[in-house]
Amino acid sequence: MKKYKTLLLENNETGIKKAAALLRAGEIVGIPTETVYGLAANALNASAIRRIFKAKGRPQDNPLIVHIAELNSLYELVMDVSDTALQLAMRFWPGPLTMVFAKKPVIPDILSAGLATVAIRMPSHPTALSLIKAANVPLAAPSANRSGSPSPTTASHVIRDMDGRIPAVLDGGACSVGVESTILDLTGEVPCLLRPGGITPEMIRSVTGKLKIHRAVTAELSRSSMAISPGMKYKHYSPKAHVVLVKGSPQAFTRFVNSRSGEGVVAMCFDKEQYGLEVPYVTYGARGDAAGQARQLFSVLRRLDDIGAKTVYCACPNEREMGLAVYNRLLRAAGFEVIELD
Ligand code: AMP
Ligand code: MG
Repeated sequence: MKKYKTLLLENNETGIKKAAALLRAGEIVGIPTETVYGLAANALNASAIRRIFKAKGRPQDNPLIVHIAELNSLYELVMDVSDTALQLAMRFWPGPLTMVFAKKPVIPDILSAGLATVAIRMPSHPTALSLIKAANVPLAAPSANRSGSPSPTTASHVIRDMDGRIPAVLDGGACSVGVESTILDLTGEVPCLLRPGGITPEMIRSVTGKLKIHRAVTAELSRSSMAISPGMKYKHYSPKAHVVLVKGSPQAFTRFVNSRSGEGVVAMCFDKEQYGLEVPYVTYGARGDAAGQARQLFSVLRRLDDIGAKTVYCACPNEREMGLAVYNRLLRAAGFEVIELD
């Protein structure tokens, strides 16, 4: 793979112009969005997209999301925009909602990993929108982490994973949502939630009425089962430590973790619930504040590696609304290992 001296571009007109020029030249660039940092390339250029897969070490059967800055671009990329899709776009774009449509032939097969569909969203981060407009092409962008590790929510996370592997990162500050977009499949009769995110099931139902939640949101798919969204079958978002999700009251959690104390054991708990713990701990937001948990989740998972955690017992978030997105990511970070106390 080509070796780069990775530039950190500032969030101003010069930085955006430089990033746009690299993208137009078929290069890949780390970019800020409101969800997580993306690793972007011209979505219509197959060889640029190939570079994303290489830099991330991403399996070729895991398709990418296309980012657009204007609703008109959607019609150039997909076969049909239903009334439901249009209503959802009017309500939630720009924002953290990705919708899956039947693709037009302009979408390279490598982008959609051979699927007949393509996932599209319009990000709300002003820098992302300016960059897409300046590049004047739709941008394919998966999360800018090395495949399998926690998604990056700051430019320095991207540098840590991608230094030397990409020509530049555009610094847009810390991501305001902190977890990847909600993915909604609109190709069937009833809209189907494939990945929970900042746009919650309740918000979607308020527009569509009906909504299916794919089994893979909260359950492990067998290796052999054909995932409709191939990304769902991979272990994801993991620090190097062995993570175990623990369900139960704060008191039961404290008792359980203390009984497991030992070298490299770390508790990951909610703010103000660390009292009584006899092992090192990290906190990831207040128990009742799922949006706050989402914002911190990936940097906390990265911090566990920095402090040399070997086994992490993580207090389980609730699964309602935005909490479903946090729970979904933690389940994957834990490789679906869950202990139920009480
Ligand atoms: P990332 O950008 O790293 O969050 O990964 C993109 C996610 O979008 C992966 O989980 C993919 O499986 C999913 N995805 C991308 N394209 C499609 C598609 N056409 N149909 C269903 N899921 C998709
Ligand atoms: Mg990802």
